[in-house]
Amino acid sequence: MEELSGFYKLSAEERLKKIKKIANLTDDEAQIISDTGALKLELADRMVENVIGAIHLPLGIATNFVINGKEFLIPMALEEPSVIAAACKAAKQTLPQGFKADADSPVMIGQIQVVDIPDIGRAKKELEQKRSEIMKLAEKCLEPHAKWGIKPLGFNVRELSDMLLVEFDVNVSDAMGANMVNSTLEGVAPAIEEYTGGKVRLRILTNLAVKRKARATAVWKKEVVGEDVIAGVLDGYKLAKSDIYRCATHNKGIMNGIDAVMLATGNDWRAVEAGAHAFAAMNGYKPLTHYEKNKNGDLVGTIEMPLVSATVGGAVNTSPTAKITLKISGVKSSAELAMAAVCVGLANNFAALAALSTVGIQKGHMKLHAKNIAVLVGAKTPEEIDAVANELDKLNDFSSENAKKILDRLRVA
Ligand code: NAD
Repeated sequence: MEELSGFYKLSAEERLKKIKKIANLTDDEAQIISDTGALKLELADRMVENVIGAIHLPLGIATNFVINGKEFLIPMALEEPSVIAAACKAAKQTLPQGFKADADSPVMIGQIQVVDIPDIGRAKKELEQKRSEIMKLAEKCLEPHAKWGIKPLGFNVRELSDMLLVEFDVNVSDAMGANMVNSTLEGVAPAIEEYTGGKVRLRILTNLAVKRKARATAVWKKEVVGEDVIAGVLDGYKLAKSDIYRCATHNKGIMNGIDAVMLATGNDWRAVEAGAHAFAAMNGYKPLTHYEKNKNGDLVGTIEMPLVSATVGGAVNTSPTAKITLKISGVKSSAELAMAAVCVGLANNFAALAALSTVGIQKGHMKLHAKNIAVLVGAKTPEEIDAVANELDKLNDFSSENAKKILDRLRVA
């Protein structure tokens, strides 16, 4: 603790030097941590606190996505093998129609908590009487952003035991909206205190963005995927509906894809995660997707969930890669990004259910994971990594002992 006093005041290089000493890092290890790539160290140091370097994730592109008749290249950043391949495969199986998707207007809800109110009934009446003054104040707070169509839409007052919640709806246009909404709440809070006679405590948006949902639907034809896959997906879906243990993993599979799109585009994926699971739990934890057969016996998959995404603001503005990944994606608004993300989530969910209910996922997964095992045991060049991974797959033995033996053998040969 003493050695780290004033840690935050040091430069990133000095911090890494200290950590290197304390954690006994080798020169190579410290070098890896300090290699920030496109994200320059000075910029990383301004984005978050106590920076010593950066970590890197692979960035891939999900292909075959046709959404509302338009082709998209969807960037995905994550460390887990198979997810991108699964999204591409499931999307291909929807062609030529692809996905139909839509998104609500970008409305975020911000909450002000008021406690210690002397007379709740009177406070509610007062807030009603002062509605237009309160709205004018909120509009003033958002005035700097009005040119983008950002504005407060109204507020509701909710009684919760001995507290009041004053909840504002704000149209945040193409931003995620957290900072703008939170600043507005802090801006109107003194007036809320005055009118209610109570004390304002929390002033923050909710990540359960029920007014900013995105939806997608796709049809997997029986001639394309086969009747057994359709039956398997329906059985898997039935299990997720009836068992929370399965449902958690069902929804995790959806978020594999959605988080990866959010991360690749500089979005706040924790916010999307929080919203997804809270929404899934609103009436007892349920799957975020729905499956049924249409009259032809084809499988219709749908997804609906809050999807708060941004094409401006937050890290989208500061990350050197976010602007580029958004350019690759071709999305023109936060709503379009939300639609692309839910389509990926649906595709990943279908692919996971199709594989899990038939051949299982381990064969494909382990084949891709074999490369990680090769690196783990010390394979360095791409040729070495591929050779070890291929041999592991051929022998169907993915243990690190086996990988080490293969690598040693390769190096001797
Ligand atoms: P922000 O503060 O960067 O605001 C967006 C900016 O973009 C504004 O200045 C706005 O005027 C400008 N802009 C330009 N063109 C626009 C357009 N077409 N549409 C909308 N705005 C446009 O970002 P934000 O969206 O208010 O806040 C997002 C950040 O807040 C994220 O980094 C997030 O991680 C963080 N955050 C999240 C939470 C939470 O989820 N609970 C809480 C606090 C902060």
